Amino acid sequence: MIVSKFGGTSVGSYEAMSRSANIIADNPQRNWVVISATSGTTNELLRMCSLPLNMDEGDGLLEQISRRHLDIASQCSFKKEATKAVEECMCNLLAHLSKQQTSNKQSETEWIDNLLAFGENLSTQLFAWVLREKNLDVQLEWAGDFICTDSRFGSAEVDLEATFAKLWHFLSSNEGFRSDHKPGKVLLTQGFIGADVEGRTTTLGRGGSDYSAALFAEALGAECLEIWTDVAGIYTTDPRVVPTAHAIDEISFDEAAELSTFGGKVLHPATMKLVRRANIPVRVASSMEPELSGTKIVTGPLNRPVVRTLSVRQEQTLMTLHSLEMLHQPGFLAKVFSILSEHRISVDLVTTSEVSVSLTLDTAHKASNKVELSEAVLRALNDFCDVEVEYNLALVAVIGNAMNQTSGISGQLFSTLKDYNIRLVCHGASANNVCFLVQESDAEAVVQTLHQSFIG
Ligand code: ADP
Ligand code: ASP
Ligand code: MG
Repeated sequence: MIVSKFGGTSVGSYEAMSRSANIIADNPQRNWVVISATSGTTNELLRMCSLPLNMDEGDGLLEQISRRHLDIASQCSFKKEATKAVEECMCNLLAHLSKQQTSNKQSETEWIDNLLAFGENLSTQLFAWVLREKNLDVQLEWAGDFICTDSRFGSAEVDLEATFAKLWHFLSSNEGFRSDHKPGKVLLTQGFIGADVEGRTTTLGRGGSDYSAALFAEALGAECLEIWTDVAGIYTTDPRVVPTAHAIDEISFDEAAELSTFGGKVLHPATMKLVRRANIPVRVASSMEPELSGTKIVTGPLNRPVVRTLSVRQEQTLMTLHSLEMLHQPGFLAKVFSILSEHRISVDLVTTSEVSVSLTLDTAHKASNKVELSEAVLRALNDFCDVEVEYNLALVAVIGNAMNQTSGISGQLFSTLKDYNIRLVCHGASANNVCFLVQESDAEAVVQTLHQSFIG
């Protein structure tokens, strides 16, 4: 089996859907397909959440979503069926929107997850008809029937055991998927969506479809996971920031994990953990240019340069704690980390000095990288130390191999950046990265300078 995931731009118009459907039709092993909402739709649905019903802007957004999907339906050979599917979905969406004002039974976060799920619902309903147009036998299944999560709406945690059990049960009672040897069904489902034990719809965090696809790939023992997107693979850095960045042929799981954790939007951060432990190779490729080989993520890539790729994560929060208590006192850091853990805040980078510690806060599961520090956390920390919080910083990660064993790498890096103020540095913890903080406004220039010097 090959699990193939298509992102928003790969299903964003009729042409894009048709191109993606051709990719699936081309290889009979592509029999498990995961898709995102059409590009722009999740953002528009989220924007609608913050607007009162019947506001002009809300109506405009609704109209835009409806038009985008009806337009795709109108170009499909199964125009009647596809249009009916969109109209039904839009009616349900309207009914759901009106519940916001009339009922407060559903918590707000639960209501938002239900609303966002309409994006994935619309795209899969339509894509099923585009696949049928290519003479494929499609079985459309709701991802909430496979992906079991807790009830943390907006960034639900997946219960792997329950999810895998559901998927194995499904496979054992649903045979007849297509393969090299026989024609058969293509399973189509949504990324990003799950359900809690009560069957309530949850979502896995923005960009979570990559993670869904990795879950399916691991559970089904897939031969390969394919991530079809709008760029021809993993690049030496975000090509929107550095236009001369180029696609990498092969990269290791470890490097790709660092890249996605530290801002490389091309993959959701949770994706790598699953495929790495199951040793499932990943291919990242462009659905617009499927003939290009894209990037293979494997355990042992042929070449392992010291600097392979650069990433940036904006909107970083730096917290610095000062206390004389820290001087030779056991337990100070334990106290800090236990308070952060009680408030479900995890830490990315740490540096310490004689009487202070600086840390950046993990935002892997957040739509935005901003961490809102509650009064309660600040109060608990202020009880035994002075707390200073700085915003508007960016985390730059230089990702590669044997970085903790290569003489002169820090010297070269920081002499290249002599004109910038480097706020915090983490080097040595990982062979695969050197990370540091700069002012958000300097981040792009820093990455451009490093790319020019180290990658070219
Ligand atoms: P999809 O909707 O297919 O999931 P995303 O927008 O989530 O696509 O991810 C693809 C985008 O990730 C690219 O358009 C690119 O701008 C951005 N990106 C950031 N870092 C990288 C990188 N190192 N390589 C490739 N793309 C990157
Ligand atoms: N549609 C969701 C989002 O935009 C999930 C995804 O695209 O991966 O975040
Ligand atoms: Mg994505």
